[in-house]
Amino acid sequence: MMRTLLLQLSRQHWLREWMQNSSAAGRFTSRFVAGRDLSQALDACTRLRNEGILATLDRLGENVYSAPEAGVSLEAYLKGLSGIADRGLGGTVSVKLTQLGLDLSEALCRDNVRQMAERAFQFGTQVEIDMEASEYVDRTLAIVRHQHAATRNVRAVIQAYLYRSESDVDQLCREGIPVRLCKGAYKEEATVAFPTKREVDASYVSLMRKLLMDGTYPAIASHHEAILREAIAFSRQRGLSPDSFEFQMLYGIRRDLQRELVREGFRLRLYVPYGDAWYPYFMRRLAERPANVWFVVRNLLRA
Ligand SMILES: Cc1cc2nc3c(=O)[nH]c(=O)nc-3n(C[C@H](O)[C@H](O)[C@H](O)COP(=O)(O)OP(=O)(O)OC[C@H]3O[C@@H](n4cnc5c(N)ncnc54)[C@H](O)[C@@H]3O)c2cc1C
Repeated sequence: MMRTLLLQLSRQHWLREWMQNSSAAGRFTSRFVAGRDLSQALDACTRLRNEGILATLDRLGENVYSAPEAGVSLEAYLKGLSGIADRGLGGTVSVKLTQLGLDLSEALCRDNVRQMAERAFQFGTQVEIDMEASEYVDRTLAIVRHQHAATRNVRAVIQAYLYRSESDVDQLCREGIPVRLCKGAYKEEATVAFPTKREVDASYVSLMRKLLMDGTYPAIASHHEAILREAIAFSRQRGLSPDSFEFQMLYGIRRDLQRELVREGFRLRLYVPYGDAWYPYFMRRLAERPANVWFVVRNLLRA
């Protein structure tokens, strides 16, 4: 109930405008959002690097409504890539294709991805292409495939809650395209996605094993402790090197587990979001764990 309500609120434009312009925002978003600008985000990545944690930088934002707006996103990402290289952070960037104009024109979006991937290639790093709602999956994977053929430095994201994901994972493994596996953060109908958490978790574990065995440097993106322990046990049973995959988590979530993975010698990358357009991202984090709402309310009352 609460989850559905929060996901519905995440799509309300008036609330988004009001919240994003609120002077109190920083007080309750700082746990999940690394900063309002690139330099604050790079500072956060540098702190993580000093703790042995890699980063993937996400400039917050979703659907843009004009080619110049998509160009602004692209420029911000190109600057992000330069910042990562200048500071020697060894990080990647993560981008949503609707930020690069997917809703306006596939050709425009494809060209923006090309420019990002080519810049990342110059710096010896990768572009991770986030996955959005199910209506975008085909177009997103088509652009990932197209760019992989040219520069081989893009990562696809697969959501375990979608029925189609098993066949997508099989295909991406055959093509040698790296995959980040997550559970999925959008509100989907039971016609396309498993409706219960138990089914999503089972799908996640099955896809994770497949990727660990047959994937190209897969990223296991989850905070689900039992699943992470299963990944570790499975990789040890099969004699996989800890360098052959990485764990990924979101900035500010399960910091205890993050430290434990690093202590145990696993590679960990955090998804580090920054920027003014924090509202939909923030609301999805609340929806994943409605107890976070109380964290926000407590901070507001304290202010
Ligand atoms: C690096 C990364 C990239 C991602 N990229 C995408 C993407 O491109 N597309 C997409 O649809 N989704 C993406 N997601 C989000 C993902 O789909 C899930 O919604 C999210 O990770 C929660 O699922 P979980 O695997 O952590 O398991 P869950 O079963 O939801 O949570 C397991 C445990 O993790 C902790 N936890 C989980 N979420 C929170 C939270 N918000 N606050 C506090 N504790 C929490 C709690 O202890 C919870 O019990 C990404 C997630 C990560 C980690």
